Amino acid sequence: MKPNLRNRRDFIKATTLAAASLPFIGAWSPVVRAAESGRKLGVALVGLGSLSTNQIAPALQKTNYCKLAGIVTGTPAKAKKWKVRHNLPDNSVYSYETMEQMADNPDIDIVYVVTPNALHAEHTIKAAKAGKHVLCEKPMEVSPEKCQQMIDACKAADRMLAVGYRLHFDPNHIECIRLAREKVFGNLNMIQAEYGFRIGQKQWRLDRALSGGGPLMDVGIYALQATRYISGEEPVSVSAVATNSDPVKFKDIEESIAWQLKFPGGVIATCNTTYNFNGFDRLRAFADRGWFELAPAYGYGGIQGKRSDNKWTPIAGIDQFAVEMDDFAQCILEKRPTKVPGEEGLRDLKIMMAIYEAAKTGKTISLT
Ligand code: NAD
Repeated sequence: MKPNLRNRRDFIKATTLAAASLPFIGAWSPVVRAAESGRKLGVALVGLGSLSTNQIAPALQKTNYCKLAGIVTGTPAKAKKWKVRHNLPDNSVYSYETMEQMADNPDIDIVYVVTPNALHAEHTIKAAKAGKHVLCEKPMEVSPEKCQQMIDACKAADRMLAVGYRLHFDPNHIECIRLAREKVFGNLNMIQAEYGFRIGQKQWRLDRALSGGGPLMDVGIYALQATRYISGEEPVSVSAVATNSDPVKFKDIEESIAWQLKFPGGVIATCNTTYNFNGFDRLRAFADRGWFELAPAYGYGGIQGKRSDNKWTPIAGIDQFAVEMDDFAQCILEKRPTKVPGEEGLRDLKIMMAIYEAAKTGKTISLT
């Protein structure tokens, strides 16, 4: 199903999350030529792990404006399998070392970076230097400095940069934004947002060097995002507390972390995230005359809404990744800004660093 257009328009109109400045796309651009010829924009996936295999590749089959046009992988066996399965030509298969050669491949317009968090800057910068637009998975990187380098590289190359914040395209979240902006229940007072799961052993998410942190960087970021787009404001201060009951498994990342954000209009947000248990998946907003919630709230599908007046009308799910990729392609083709620019990812990284600092010091950290 296509997203609810009225709500999408409302979202675009209402959101105060700043849009990036749109880089100039010259007449020579392969993308402009793609628009003229009516061909779909070619997407190259960097990193063929779980998300690329199970969500993004299937979603590409459902897009209107995109198609899989290349892969970047460090595993020759995967390259062979994907090449056959997706009917890719030899010259569209790259390793991390050869991906700059994409500069000579006019079939690739967009590079979708789906590698571990701490590799996003390296792969984004290589893609930008090869003249490609970049869609980068969340979290954008592991530090604000690296996010800024990615923004600068894409600006220097006149390429667009977006972060894979799929929930900005989910009609349930868009409906919550509408309820908040139109003050259907009056002024907003409090937001509760929580998302977490029990993580397995032995993977890069437990290794700070690759992940940049624990559940906050991985899934808590969705709770943080939700508080920002539901309130429509940027937080002014944060306090936080972290716990770790398994110092072997979580030797250099947090196991669970809770944080509170104060917004300038008076809204307080209470958020939690964990790598220690399942079933932690809710977003609830309280206003003067009622509340609305999503539970579960952040998955690829199955999101359920509720309102205190019992008037929530169920909204059919969409393929969030297909809509997200199509939106990015349309932004490129129509030369308009994305609602999830690199600057949006940078803002989250700055706030997450402040959350970690607040948990470490026990102090309230100012964000202004
Ligand atoms: P994954 O471990 O399944 O896949 C990561 C891929 O990167 C693998 O193919 C791996 O071979 C490759 N890789 C390249 N260099 C590597 C290195 N040095 N160490 C480890 N792997 C290396 O991870 P994933 O779940 O697909 O996550 C990839 C990215 O996507 C992460 O940034 C993650 O936060 C993000 N993600 C987003 C969502 C979402 O809902 N938007 C969901 C899952 C993951």
